[in-house]
Amino acid sequence: MKSFDCDVLIAGGGPTGLLTAFLCGEAGIEARAFEMRDAIAPDLRATSFHPPTLDMLEPDGFTQEIVAQGLTTTQWQVRLHPEGERAVFDLAVIRDEVRHPFRLQCEQSRLQQAIYDRLARHPRARADFGHKVVGFRQDETGVDVDVESARGIETLRARILVGADGLASTVRETAGIPFEGEAFPETTLVVTTTFPFEQHMEGLTIVASCWTPGGNLAFLRLRDFWRLAIYLREDIPVEQQITPDGVQAALQNIIASPQPYPVLGAWPYRVQQRIVPTYRKGRVALVGDAAHVNSPAGGLGLNGGIHEAFELAEALKDIFRRGADLERLDLYTRRRRPVVAEEILGQAKRNRDRMREKDPDERRRLLANLQAITGDPERHRAYVRRASMLDGLRMAAQIS
Ligand SMILES: Cc1cc2nc3c(=O)[nH]c(=O)nc-3n(C[C@H](O)[C@H](O)[C@H](O)COP(=O)(O)OP(=O)(O)OC[C@H]3O[C@@H](n4cnc5c(N)ncnc54)[C@H](O)[C@@H]3O)c2cc1C
Repeated sequence: MKSFDCDVLIAGGGPTGLLTAFLCGEAGIEARAFEMRDAIAPDLRATSFHPPTLDMLEPDGFTQEIVAQGLTTTQWQVRLHPEGERAVFDLAVIRDEVRHPFRLQCEQSRLQQAIYDRLARHPRARADFGHKVVGFRQDETGVDVDVESARGIETLRARILVGADGLASTVRETAGIPFEGEAFPETTLVVTTTFPFEQHMEGLTIVASCWTPGGNLAFLRLRDFWRLAIYLREDIPVEQQITPDGVQAALQNIIASPQPYPVLGAWPYRVQQRIVPTYRKGRVALVGDAAHVNSPAGGLGLNGGIHEAFELAEALKDIFRRGADLERLDLYTRRRRPVVAEEILGQAKRNRDRMREKDPDERRRLLANLQAITGDPERHRAYVRRASMLDGLRMAAQIS
């Protein structure tokens, strides 16, 4: 029988795959991650890191690295534009519960790069780019994984296969695990611009969700530019709204400017909300977007994937280092699935639904409700704790 090439083989070199490989290596487990792209994707996806995520990444030095490359804020707001009325949430209210009572704004590719750099000199874990996992077969003792690269297809044998291969996961599909849920009808347009919104919108925080006349958008500030997620109008064809003129029109609708907006980039995406019924099938486990996707409202997806990588690494440590059997992976499912369904998918959908409200009176009622929360110390703390994903993590930790 063929010997094992590694303990854990990971399909996907996104943030959750690289982190899983690194955490395995640190735990003394031989791990290899394979990424089909040739290099870390510079595309702008997750940019928000929540306090417990920063706490988790700190012991390995990643938090320090990404904080140095990003912007931090203790506050975020929900705002009625152009009136400027707002509810302001403040992470200072949980400063006695976390070591990083702020939200970090930093591109996810910077975290990937930091982990990749550590893997490059790791004795037990590595990541190979330009390698695509194209299939696998599992038996009683291991998994044979077919990996395609410029050299052709090679079959590697691992004790456990982790699918960290994102939304269109080959591992999930080959394992026959359904991805239950739906695609939402609306299209969102991500636009990056150097326009100084902060000079035109009094008190604008670097993370803000805004109701605009007839629509809504999210403001997220990065070091060198604003990144906006604009929910496109549903009465005008999408194709028309994503042309350069359409993008300018959308921006001019926010703040009228005599000069054209300096647009660095603009691209549309459709939001999906899906989750697997189980995170494990035999010797195969899923992590991150391969297991769940949700609306970016609230910035929860990648944070959830990072929490998951830590939870999965604990399970793998129990199996490889402490003699636990494979069923230990079921505890991983039991801990993650309900929490992700309610605290990530559920919360993201509630955020999305609230911002999609169009009726001016209902918007004012929703805003007044949020202001009442921020005005009450206990409710404010409870709200912030949940929005920061602390509640979900605590719930998960209690599941046995
Ligand atoms: C517009 C947008 C904004 C977002 N904003 C936020 C935010 O602010 N905060 C937040 O927490 N989340 C956010 N998210 C979600 C976040 O980007 C994802 O949750 C995160 O990228 C998931 O990481 P991952 O490693 O699980 O998957 P991915 O990042 O998708 O990585 C999967 C990797 O696997 C590779 N791959 C796929 N198939 C194979 C294969 N067969 N073999 C080898 N490699 C393969 C892919 O090339 C990819 O690199 C946002 C998402 C979008 C689209």
